[in-house]
Amino acid sequence: AKAAGRQCARGFTPAMARALEEKSWMEAELRKALAEGGLQLHFQPKVHLRSGALLGAEVLLRWPCPGRGWIPPDRFIPLAEECGLVNAIDAWVLRAACAQWAAWRDQGLAVPGLAVNVSPSRFVHDDVVADVQAALTQHALPPEGLTLEVTERLMLDEAQDRRAVSQLSALRAMGVGVSIDDFGTGYSSLSYLRRLPVSELKLDRSFVSRLDSDTDDRSLTRAIVSIAEAMELNLVAEGLETVAQAERLRQLGCEVAQGYWLSRPLSAEAFAVWCEAVRDG
Ligand code: C2E
Ligand code: CA
Ligand code: CA
Ligand code: CA
Repeated sequence: AKAAGRQCARGFTPAMARALEEKSWMEAELRKALAEGGLQLHFQPKVHLRSGALLGAEVLLRWPCPGRGWIPPDRFIPLAEECGLVNAIDAWVLRAACAQWAAWRDQGLAVPGLAVNVSPSRFVHDDVVADVQAALTQHALPPEGLTLEVTERLMLDEAQDRRAVSQLSALRAMGVGVSIDDFGTGYSSLSYLRRLPVSELKLDRSFVSRLDSDTDDRSLTRAIVSIAEAMELNLVAEGLETVAQAERLRQLGCEVAQGYWLSRPLSAEAFAVWCEAVRDG
């Protein structure tokens, strides 16, 4: 790649060559990690604020990369999307999450539900319905406990949109939940809420983090609470970091949250310990 870089047209700098090399190295490592069991799942509790009850957990992917430490998903998911690896990764996450959920159940630990992130491209190229059906059936898991989190990016492309709507409708009919992730940050129109069979909105962290200081964000949060109520959708606040934010959310009518104030994302082992501590008061 270095030699190729030198031969290239003017404007192709050594720094660009290095970036490209780094990218193809990371892509190869990521492929290897997926094939060889090098990816891990972490779990972040989703909690009912008033009662403190555990309602479920969001599954978050972790990649301990040899020689590089933990690479955050915000770096490797976009790379995986670019190189066409994200669908295979998300399919693995779904299977591994369901296997873990069943393992907890078999150990006597009742986890009410799991939420899994799904990239928009999966709804174009994959049969998500069949994959979900297979994962749930294999472990005899309740469809009502599973939620798929999708972002508003899903609605940007019309062809994608059609396939997504039919797959999400089939999933809702099975009882699986569909959540709009990062709600309030992406798309300019809310009309897709009429077309998409959605069961939950996730209030983006950017709203939650400014609840203390910004009255506009407070008004927007109140508006989103109203949308959720009017459309009979669950609402989950993400990125809850302080007791003051928790108090504000409760005042505004948002009952369910995730965030560092409740718990960081935890390894499977640590999550089980956390659940037992909550259960035993
Ligand atoms: P997301 O779906 O919006 O996930 C929430 C992110 O916020 C997570 O970052 C979580 O660790 C972080 N977070 C949770 N509570 C707090 C808090 O109180 N304060 C702050 N500052 N952050 C908090 P993470 O794990 O680094 O994941 C980043 C993004 O990567 C996710 O954003 C999601 O879009 C993507 N991602 C993670 N796992 C998967 C996956 O399995 N598949 C796909 N397609 N994307 C994934
Ligand atoms: Ca999410
Ligand atoms: Ca989110
Ligand atoms: Ca977010």
